[in-house]
Order: sequence, then C-alpha cells, then structure tokens
Amino acid sequence: MKEIIGFSILGVVVALILFMVIRTLLTKKPKLENRNYVPHDIPLDRVKDHLIGAVQIPTVTLKDNDQDGSIFYEYQAYLERCFPKIMAVAEKTLVNKYAVIYTVKGTDESLLPCAILAHQDVVPAPDEGWEVPPFSGIVKDGYIYGRGSQDMKSQMIVALEGLELLLEDGLQPKRTIMFCFGHDEELRGTYGALEISKYLESKGIRLEYVLDEGGTILDGKILGIDNKIALIGTCEKGYADYILEVEKDGGHSSAPDRRTSVGMLSEALYKVEKHKRKPYWTKPTKDMFKALAPHMNFGFKLALVNRDILSPLLKVVLCLVSPFTNGLMRTTLAPTQTNGAHTPNTLAPVATGTINSRINTGETVEGVKNYIQKVVGKHVKISMLEGSIDPSPVSDIDTKAFKDLQQTIGEVFGGYIASPYPFIAASDAKHYYNLTNCVYRFTPFEKTIEDGARIHGMNERQSVQSLELGTRFFLRLYENTCF
Ligand SMILES: [Zn+2]
Repeated sequence: MKEIIGFSILGVVVALILFMVIRTLLTKKPKLENRNYVPHDIPLDRVKDHLIGAVQIPTVTLKDNDQDGSIFYEYQAYLERCFPKIMAVAEKTLVNKYAVIYTVKGTDESLLPCAILAHQDVVPAPDEGWEVPPFSGIVKDGYIYGRGSQDMKSQMIVALEGLELLLEDGLQPKRTIMFCFGHDEELRGTYGALEISKYLESKGIRLEYVLDEGGTILDGKILGIDNKIALIGTCEKGYADYILEVEKDGGHSSAPDRRTSVGMLSEALYKVEKHKRKPYWTKPTKDMFKALAPHMNFGFKLALVNRDILSPLLKVVLCLVSPFTNGLMRTTLAPTQTNGAHTPNTLAPVATGTINSRINTGETVEGVKNYIQKVVGKHVKISMLEGSIDPSPVSDIDTKAFKDLQQTIGEVFGGYIASPYPFIAASDAKHYYNLTNCVYRFTPFEKTIEDGARIHGMNERQSVQSLELGTRFFLRLYENTCF
C-alpha cells in the first residue's frame, strides 16, 4: 500500500515537472513587426546646442506659485526660438501662469491626441562640489554638464527635436500632439501637471496615451537575460516618510533610567526592519515578468512561466536576489535618519527616527502607518512628513499605444526588450489618469548607474552621443503613432 502511495506521489511530481518544462519550451520570444524602419538622420550638433542653451537657463522650482517665475517665460521663449517649425503651427496655452501646453493639431480629428510630458523645472544646484558651474552647460569628455541636463531637459529637447525634423521633411501629423510642460515636478507637480490635466479635462479632452520620463535601460543579466531591457513605468509606487518618536525623561547620562528614549527608538527601528511587509504579486510585476520571461535563460524562464505553481518559492527568491527585485515585490520600509541628544553626555528627552517607505500597489499610506504602529507598539508616536502619496493607478498594457511603444524601442535600440514595470520614483504622469488609462514612463537614454546617481546631485551630465538615439526614439514614436 505504502509503495503504491509512494509511486503515485512520484508520478504526480514527475508529471508536474514535465508539464512545467513543456510549458517553458513552448514559450517563444515575440517578434517585432516588420514596419520597414529606416533610421532618420539626426543633426547631433544642433540637438547638443539646443540642450546646452536649455541648461543655461536656471529654471529652479519655485517654492510656490506666487514667487516670480519670469525665468520660465525666458525658458519658453528659448524653446520657441529653437523649434521654429513646431512653433509656427502650435497653439500655445499657459496654465496656472508658468505651465505650458504646445498643441500641434493633427489632420484626422477622429484620433485622440497624445500628450508628451516633460518638466521645465530643476532642483537647485549650489556651486559647491561641481567640476563646472552648474548652469554653464559646458561640454567635457563627451558630456554636457549642468543641472537639468538629465532631469529632464534632455528628454524635453529630443522630444521636440523629433517632431521638428518630421515637420522639416514637410510631413503633417494625423494625430494631434500635445507637449505638456509643468513647472514644479520636483515639488509634486500640483501647480503644473495637476493644473494642466484639470484644464484638459475641463475642455473635455481624452488622450490616446501619455508619455513622461521614467524607466531607463538596464542590463538584463540580473534577470538571466542576454540583452538590454527598456523599462516602461506603468504605475508609481506610493511614498511616505514616517517619523517615529519616543519620549522619556531626560537628564544626565551618568544616572540613566532602565530604558532610554534612544534605546527604545533603536528597538522600534530594528523591529520594523525585521518585520518587513509581505511580498505579493501586483498587476505591474505580473505584467513585467510575463513580458520578460520568454527572453530569460532556461532556469529563470521555467520559474517565471510557471509562476502560478512556484509562486511561494519565487516570492522568497525575488526578495533575496537583489534590492531591485525586492522593491518590485513589496512595500519597502527603510530607516534613514535618527536624532537623539545634542551632546554625548545627555539623555535625550525625545528620540526620533525616520522610515522612508515606497508603497506597493494595493497598499495605502494610512495602512502602512497602521502596520508600523502595530509592529513598534503604542509607546512609539508616529507622524508623517508632508508629501506622502498613495500608489498611482496602473496603466493598461494591452493597448495599441503600449505595443507601438515596445515596437519603437525595439526598432530604434536594435532589439532591446521593452517591458512594463512599476516605476519607483515620482513623475508628473500620475496626474494624468483622469484623461487616459495609457500613462507610460520611459526615458530613452542609455546611461551608467554612476551617471544616473548624479541626478539631483553634483556634476549632473548627459552624454552628447545619447541624444542621437533619444531624438530618433521620439521621431520614430511619432511616425508609429501619429503620422
Ligand atoms: Zn524629473
């Protein structure tokens, strides 16, 4: 009897393995459509000069909309000089003083417009620590240096350049193209992007798709892929800074009480680090692994094609394999700051610590706060810094716009794999879900991790060479979706 049961179990396991292997072998890489792609000539010197000029105008984010923002008018006048063909036909609309929409009307009114987003503003850049003055736009070793050269005047310039070149060829778009440029993305976009989207809604406008800055190009090796992956953000994780506070009698540290505020705070932070949020599958992570699985090596592919069977094991492995995949699977809780007494020989009457959290789709700022409270106990007071935000809705990917975006990336970047993914940073795009469910975030530049780390930091720079494919990407995207 025991033998029969043993053989039956073995039989089921063998059948299951066989099933998983066959399923894996049957999963084939999707092919790009043949759309006769002929790369357009790009006047790289011109694009470079346009970006240099843009960087030289210090459009630092205003603290609020009552501050003098005339620098943004100077910046817009500059764009209008750089792109005469676009500006000759575009309708310009200022929104909430400094945000701007340039609308290039298409010939076919039955097509919904698309919106190309970029933000005009940049974070401040004090001179200290820079190799060149931060608003000089100096070119060094093949890079344009300056604040905004990456985030995100480069993307704005190549997006305009792509259309300018098509108009120079004497072509006219069928689909209306709206360039929507906010002016306070670095402060959440409430004066700029949010007002633009409200304005468009008030005009009854629906959009075919929205494209903003976002995912970048990554080496596929960490996921067992022998190619580059172009990540297209289809949602934004939420964001919150939770402040943990413990109060205790202060006094001289030569006679401490049994427990101290700093000791109790440390214990609370340790508990949060130990009791991580549960990993789970969200639509964007499922979408991502579904798109990538066919391109993976056999081991990775087998695991992900059979995600429904191997899910519990896979969740654990993905959380362990790298901080990047861990961040895809769960809400992260990272202790980042602590504060105690001002001198080394004083007991702090109050100790505070910050936990920075990136909230996964499906959870909320409030829900995560309640979770932390449960973990640390009632004696720890929790408050939040301003600027917390719930995760954004998730965009559809089963759409023509998304497929065209994948096709464009494949064509322009010589076969790179375009994949949806949950975008971990913030962008203006989150304000546009009232106008379409096709909100995508992609930055068409290849860069090193080291260069990416310069964003918001010192010596921000953009490689001159990268502007060629960046321009070609937008030009081809317009050809594929608007002409
Ligand atoms: Zn940005």
